[in-house]
Amino acid sequence: MDVCARCNRKLRSQKSIGEGMGPVCKRKAKKEADDEEFRKIQITIFDVELTDGGVLDAGSMRTCTG
Ligand SMILES: [Zn+2]
Repeated sequence: MDVCARCNRKLRSQKSIGEGMGPVCKRKAKKEADDEEFRKIQITIFDVELTDGGVLDAGSMRTCTG
């Protein structure tokens, strides 16, 4: 079936059929993929910071309350 994998509309150009989705949906899919990649990187950085910062915070909190 020569339909877009994303919106299920018929694909007209051979290029789109070859790619499995239309140019608009392809752009959206790419953006989402980029956003997802960005989120993963953000989470990774955040996790590292949280792990390092968490240890430091626990230490300073202990000092503060103790
Ligand atoms: Zn589409």
